[in-house]
Amino acid sequence: MKRTKIVATIGPATSDKEVLRQIILEGVDVVRLNFSHGKYEDHAEVIKNVREIDKEEMYNTAILADLQGPKLRIGQVRDGGIELVNGTTVTIRASEHQSDLNEITTNYLDFAHDVEAGEIVLLDDGKLKLKVLETDQDTTVKLEVIHGGILTSRKGINLPDTKISLPSLTAKDMRDLEFALDHDVDWIGLSFVRNARDIIELKELIAKRKKHARVIAKIEKPEAIEEIEDIIKETDALMVARGDLGVEIPMQNVPILQKKLIRLCINSAKPVIVATQMMESMIDNITPTRAEVNDVANAVLDGADAVMLSAETSVGKFPVDVIKAMSSIIDEVEKYDNLYHHENPPEESAKDRFITDSICYSACRLASRTQAKAIVTMTFSGYTGFKISSQRPKAITYIFTGNKKILTMMNLVWGVKAFYYDKMVSTDHTIADIKYILRKEGYLQTGDFVINVASMPIAEQGMSNMVKLSKA
Ligand code: PEP
Repeated sequence: MKRTKIVATIGPATSDKEVLRQIILEGVDVVRLNFSHGKYEDHAEVIKNVREIDKEEMYNTAILADLQGPKLRIGQVRDGGIELVNGTTVTIRASEHQSDLNEITTNYLDFAHDVEAGEIVLLDDGKLKLKVLETDQDTTVKLEVIHGGILTSRKGINLPDTKISLPSLTAKDMRDLEFALDHDVDWIGLSFVRNARDIIELKELIAKRKKHARVIAKIEKPEAIEEIEDIIKETDALMVARGDLGVEIPMQNVPILQKKLIRLCINSAKPVIVATQMMESMIDNITPTRAEVNDVANAVLDGADAVMLSAETSVGKFPVDVIKAMSSIIDEVEKYDNLYHHENPPEESAKDRFITDSICYSACRLASRTQAKAIVTMTFSGYTGFKISSQRPKAITYIFTGNKKILTMMNLVWGVKAFYYDKMVSTDHTIADIKYILRKEGYLQTGDFVINVASMPIAEQGMSNMVKLSKA
């Protein structure tokens, strides 16, 4: 079983139930619905199909609803685009309505209020670079073209220097969130996160709806990097959204930042996804480039919980092959022993969870010393699953839970496999029963060392306070 998980974005190339089944069987752990595209009925159909496939194949696929956030775009322009010539002056006008396709507009109505002279405006993923000359503080901004080219309709705008006044959840995001919560998705992705408040507000909305979805903060703005520690404290998981991130900050800064973000997340036991252009050439080709193979391998070596595919699986020509290729890279890299045994000692004894944290830490040290094949934990909230995983033990972490809401959610987490289990007879009986299940399902052989983490007495379902070593 591979430890590093695969997130695949679903689109026309993968929405057919049998293709979905194939990519899940080949290694997809998390299905991502990108709310920048697609209609509600398409997303609903994918959710229904994934839940059916899970039942048919005995899987627990996680579903991630990724909200678009305040993505800024220019409006329509004439067919063939408008040529922006270096050194010339162009005008961008903020307007919901457009009559002249020779004019560049944006539906970001506060554009002229928010930008200031001297700030950089990037269009089309940074391919075109402009500098603000003047703004009338109302609707119209004059800019100098620094790097020109052809500008076509609906291209993205990135403003690395500007404090954008838009809320982190737009009206569209609010509608999409309602839909996602109605369909009980496991994870909600929040785009263009700027500070910890963005996460807190989203969590309040989820709690108000009495839903269990957890939040992934997508890191793609320089402001988020300045507040990264507070964001990690509030969020449930993080995404290194390298597409926009590499436009908003110098692209050469992304590789080291990727490593730093992964390290911070592991230290806080928060899952982290590395996203965008991992196997980009496989949108059209049957094999990845050697550089892409290295990129996936390096994300695994960095310790990412998951690697993500976007257009490769949503609109690419070879969605099943791309999963096969990615799974085989992960399998190969995970043979390298230095990937494991990360040491993340529990925090001070004053912390509420000190006993549980110490038990999880000790379980991982014991697993490493005994070459155990499995660390088994009983959990209701998933807490011990996150904690054990964050130690990156070589043993697989098997979660047994009576909480159906975390079964699929935990599928994003590195090295974790979850089972539904609601018998609570006695600690001895449960441990024996779970070992029997793992042997019967082929995850353990008789004689393998197994570590159990549990709470005694088991019926109280309290915090984990016991670690046991035995043979399967
Ligand atoms: C990204 O920018 O890397 C990213 C994942 O964002 P999007 O949701 O636009 O694909």
